[in-house]
Amino acid sequence: MIPAAVEAARPAPWAGAAEPGPEPAVNRILLRDCYRVLLPDGSTPSGLDVLIEGNRIVLVGKVPAERARAARIIDASNHVVLPGLVNTHHHFYQTLTRNIPAVQDAKLFDWLVYLYEIWKGLDEDAIYWSSRLAAAELLKTGCTLSTDHHYLYPTSFSGDLPGLQFDAAAELGLRFAPTRGSMSRSKKDGGLPPDTTVQDEDRILADSEAAIRKYHDAAPDAMRKLALAPCSPFSVSEKAMREAAELGRRYGVRLHTHLAETSDEDDFCVKIYGRRPLKLMEDTGFLGKDVWYAHGIFFNDQELEDRGRRPGGPGPLRPEPDGVRRRPVGPRGGPPILRLQPRRGPRHRQRDPGGGEGRPPRRRRGEDPGRSQPRRPAAPGESGTGLRRHRT
Ligand SMILES: [Zn+2]
Repeated sequence: MIPAAVEAARPAPWAGAAEPGPEPAVNRILLRDCYRVLLPDGSTPSGLDVLIEGNRIVLVGKVPAERARAARIIDASNHVVLPGLVNTHHHFYQTLTRNIPAVQDAKLFDWLVYLYEIWKGLDEDAIYWSSRLAAAELLKTGCTLSTDHHYLYPTSFSGDLPGLQFDAAAELGLRFAPTRGSMSRSKKDGGLPPDTTVQDEDRILADSEAAIRKYHDAAPDAMRKLALAPCSPFSVSEKAMREAAELGRRYGVRLHTHLAETSDEDDFCVKIYGRRPLKLMEDTGFLGKDVWYAHGIFFNDQELEDRGRRPGGPGPLRPEPDGVRRRPVGPRGGPPILRLQPRRGPRHRQRDPGGGEGRPPRRRRGEDPGRSQPRRPAAPGESGTGLRRHRT
């Protein structure tokens, strides 16, 4: 796969003949004679070229020699060219604290409480290098557009946090749409984070607006966008959530948060707010086409059906962290409704399509250590199951 800026859903003029234009003042890359190209209509023709100018795919077809002038030419005759993957949730800073033996198998809240004690010391180097590392990992695995949900602003941190992240992403060529996250509910208010890792609502609002004005580019092909993302119902106040929604809509930026990740969150919301998490989102304006949630595991059937019937819905949901998966179960002709079902084991996954001529080779059993192999508790002093996915 070639992850160069070949991005999903971009209306490339693949069916038409682009006229040779004036010499562009941008970098050109020509993927010549591709073994297969996945086109927006789902077809996979072979032998086509892909011409990229700057950050745009300008032609998919047979590119005339004069159009390829000054292009960097890559022989793609042994490559399948796919749209770049889009990552809708991440915590770049957590790349620095993978494989901590003490919490490899901890429940979410215990895991957070332990790691906050490390994360409260984040400094500029930590933000910059973790962002470089995460961006590199994403690009090497086919992702060309990513967000990042950064919500932890230690009182000891005085740098330009979004600026460090944008720099790191730009240096590697990743299209980047991070969020200005936030936490306002610390231990002193019944939350989980240490008091030195949260901010008050006024500071969050002022810094969020400043970050939007400085970094958000509303252009359709922008390499930089910004969204607003209070961390979760159990780490921000209702006021902070509501103000973030109002500010985001005023500037036309998207909204994001963790939601319905654990049953502990359900219990917390019912106890503190007297409502389940999704109702809290509705009441604070965090519902709509411009909102996407991470997780969404503990919606109940009624919530899923209610959302499914309404236009919009909860937006893209990322794959699960906790051993369940989703499938569309909407009525025929109606919008899809998402329902949870237990994750099946490796035997089932092996039956997924994957072999045959023109398809990538079938993955062998046990090649995905993060998902296919049974987990076992990590012994003291060892790193458990290897690479650890980030969590909330
Ligand atoms: Zn998360």
